[in-house]
Order: sequence, then C-alpha cells, then structure tokens
Amino acid sequence: MSKKATICVYCGESGKLTIDHVIPKSWYKRFKVPKRMLDTPGNRVMACFNCNQAKANKDPKEWLQEKPERLQHFQRHARYLSDFTKQLAGLLPSAAGHRYSRTL
Ligand SMILES: [Zn+2]
Repeated sequence: MSKKATICVYCGESGKLTIDHVIPKSWYKRFKVPKRMLDTPGNRVMACFNCNQAKANKDPKEWLQEKPERLQHFQRHARYLSDFTKQLAGLLPSAAGHRYSRTL
C-alpha cells in the first residue's frame, strides 16, 4: 500500500479508513460520462468513516468548503487525484479562474 492510505484526506484521522469516491460514482449521469470514469484511482481517496458518512452524495466542492480546514487538508493530501476529478469537483485553479483573476 502507498502512503496515501494512512490518513483520512478530509480530516487527518488515522483510524479505520474507508475508500471514498471524491466525485460520487452515481454522478456519472450528471456529468454525462461513462460510469467507469468515476471508478478510477484518480477519483478514490481514503476517508475515515465519519467523513465518508457525512460526505455521502453531497457536492464535493460545497462539502469541502463547509470547513476551510477540511478543504486545506484535502488539497494537501489529495494531490494524486486526477485532473479529471479535480475538474469535475471544481477544484482546479483553471476551473475557478475568476477567484484568482484579481491576483496581481
Ligand atoms: Zn475524516
């Protein structure tokens, strides 16, 4: 197993972990993509039971932004996510360009 499996990417909990799909698999219809495109290592993270339960089928971006520390933690530990996943989750800087446009 790689190092990424040792802590929850959302809160840092190191107890019993479960596999979470950042973009819920059931969302393939919403994005009009083949279901298998959401069942890849680039869309899977390790999450503690509590986070996995709390996240469920919520919008990943909204859920992450509910708590700034959760988003920070996620961005620090989920670098192995595919760009495809980040893009769908609205987590790529380019996908949220307007937020950075005023940066000098
Ligand atoms: Zn957690």
